[in-house]
Amino acid sequence: MSGERVAAVSGAVDLGAGVAAQGRGPDAVSLPDAFAPYAWAATVAEVAARHGLDPVQVLKFDQNTPALPGVAQVPLAESFATLNQYPDGRYRELREAAAAYVNAERGGNVGWEQIVIGAGADDLILLCARTYLGPGRSAHVAPPTYALYRIATLLNGAEAVADAKGANLLWRCNPNNPTGEVTPAAELVELARRHPKAAVVVDEAYVEYGGDSVVPWLDECPNLIVLRTMSKAFGYAALRVGYAVATPATAAVLEARRAPAPIAAPAARIAAAALRDPRHDVPNEIAERERVREALVAVGFEAPPAAGNFVWIHSDADLGAQLEALGIIVRRFPEGIRVTLRRPAENDIFLRALGAEPGPLPGREATLIRTSTETALRITLGLDGGGLSRVATGIGFLDHLLTLLAFHAGFDLECIAGGDLDVDEHHTVEDVLAAFGSALQQALGTREGVARYGSAVVPMDEARATAAVDLVRRAHAEISLAFTGERVGGLALSLLPHALERFTMEAGCTIHVESAGADDHHIAEAAFKALGQALRQAVAPGDGGIRSTKGIA
Ligand code: PMP
Repeated sequence: MSGERVAAVSGAVDLGAGVAAQGRGPDAVSLPDAFAPYAWAATVAEVAARHGLDPVQVLKFDQNTPALPGVAQVPLAESFATLNQYPDGRYRELREAAAAYVNAERGGNVGWEQIVIGAGADDLILLCARTYLGPGRSAHVAPPTYALYRIATLLNGAEAVADAKGANLLWRCNPNNPTGEVTPAAELVELARRHPKAAVVVDEAYVEYGGDSVVPWLDECPNLIVLRTMSKAFGYAALRVGYAVATPATAAVLEARRAPAPIAAPAARIAAAALRDPRHDVPNEIAERERVREALVAVGFEAPPAAGNFVWIHSDADLGAQLEALGIIVRRFPEGIRVTLRRPAENDIFLRALGAEPGPLPGREATLIRTSTETALRITLGLDGGGLSRVATGIGFLDHLLTLLAFHAGFDLECIAGGDLDVDEHHTVEDVLAAFGSALQQALGTREGVARYGSAVVPMDEARATAAVDLVRRAHAEISLAFTGERVGGLALSLLPHALERFTMEAGCTIHVESAGADDHHIAEAAFKALGQALRQAVAPGDGGIRSTKGIA
């Protein structure tokens, strides 16, 4: 699920029995009156319409997923060549990778047979509920916490109770969503010992951000079950992969009740590769969380330490409504708001909306929101990133070129644009590259301490491109792309030289790019890769910064 769900208002949804009574469908098992299913949080389009905003002015801080997607570290083509086959229903590769990952955390000895795979931690929450709950049984839920525990309990005909004594299942979220509070593992172990007959399900969805895992205690406390997800630190929420860690006996009990093949084969392969070689960005996310929290505390908000990829503001005021009117969507609770961290420059927009003064940005980064009658776009550029990008301009080949440019430059780039493509792609191509140029100009700041020059020669089969960059503040472009035809995909190639000139003018530097060959796709790709490589060198830290006999102006 790509978004955070919220409980729908009770009574707003017909839950089945009523429908059947009117003869319009089969007779569903009835649910308690207090049951409220999940509903998706407000979408960007809904909030934009509600407050008269352009969709690109709306930022979602409610999903608790990282700002940028995890990158697949396996060749995807292999998985897609066997789409007619079921996944390995035992998920041996993924289970081995997950076991090795949890063992690497604290030198444990978890075996692959102790791992149970599910379609996200959500699926495993439902699996635990159907394994340990049913009519006449009860589960302890301690709000404010993740809403699915209560829902899974009620769906299985059990009761959600406020007292752990006598409950068949105890739901614990550590670190807790939404407060970010961490319960020491020793306390959970003690709880499990006090309730030896109950399943103590510890949801460690956010453990990578500063939790205290109970995995090392599984042998001693066989009633503990740990849930993990690939949706948070790994950035793969779209893949729907989660895993449970339990004793071999408990894992077998859960295995017997799971669906035969709950996750797709490509998802399992991507997740396994990432668990073997984790490349998540947790230290930066934690540093950013603390920068945001400190800015909030400095202006008097009650924002206690929160060990997740979010901050928690305890407040009686309806901060969520105030922020939504400004196009900022947060997760709202009766006790306060939970705000997922995005890119630093975006978090500054949120902080300023609450009257907080952001501290200095941790890296060189800029976020730019531009709207004109023809296009609307938002771009976030981080110069000190790892080449992660999310580009969606509506023009597939342009997305491809910008993704390559960001990758080769080592930039983190998010660019979302909605232009008048029904007319043609002209405005979108030009505005996106112009905005990219100004984001680069802003992110570079004073340009002190950069290497200044960069150059690269990049071949791509028969095509060959050269690029040279000088970051001194004199805007000059020499772009020569020797295309042989008119279009690649939905992109008119004649737009590219002009758009690269706009990029250069907005970035305020000197850029030369030349590319020639026989295949237009290669010519364009080589040019953008070469420009990326040259930019990577030019923006890299140098000794003493821009030096020019003419000064830096
Ligand atoms: N557990 C907690 C505590 C969560 O916050 C979430 C999602 N927000 C989930 C589980 C669901 O994770 P998944 O995407 O793996 O289903």
